[in-house]
Amino acid sequence: MLEREEIMAIFRRTGVLWEGHFVLTSGLHSGRYLQCARVQQFPEENALLCRDLAARFKDQGITAVVGPAIGAIIMSYEMARNLGARALFTERENGVMTLRRSFTLEPGERVLVVEDVITTGGSVKEVIEVVKQYNAVPVGAGVLVDRSGGRADVGVPVQSLITFDIETYKPEDCPLCRQGLPVVKPGSRQQ
Ligand SMILES: [Zn+2]
Repeated sequence: MLEREEIMAIFRRTGVLWEGHFVLTSGLHSGRYLQCARVQQFPEENALLCRDLAARFKDQGITAVVGPAIGAIIMSYEMARNLGARALFTERENGVMTLRRSFTLEPGERVLVVEDVITTGGSVKEVIEVVKQYNAVPVGAGVLVDRSGGRADVGVPVQSLITFDIETYKPEDCPLCRQGLPVVKPGSRQQ
């Protein structure tokens, strides 16, 4: 199993974790910024993380892995490779999460749901609902980063590689502002 520091090192190296002084889309300030998708630029690092996470779901009879597009497509594929399972992804159709492209699940099939980051667990829950519509069995959820502090309840056991609490501050209370550090607005939306 990868140690927390090894995972942090991969996140720093691949640009997932930025440290400095940031203003988030919420307007709050933070000393850390996380953009999980960036690890997917690096197949070797991404494979390393997925192999570690998949190992926690071995011997559970999983035959399909499903994640929500776009963020979890590559992750689903890597996880499925490790588990000897099929890799599927859900998409939104008129706002509703669904399996398209003739993807299907068998009744009773044991399914792992994956997502790169879990915060409230909303998208994971939506994918679990899709799995249930096929009378398949969602046996668990695998996420790279848990930003809920382990509090997200999605109705199935959640395994994460790492739990992350990112402290945020109102601009007027920000200790980094007080230190006079220049504030950076990351280019893309916060997860
Ligand atoms: Zn600040």
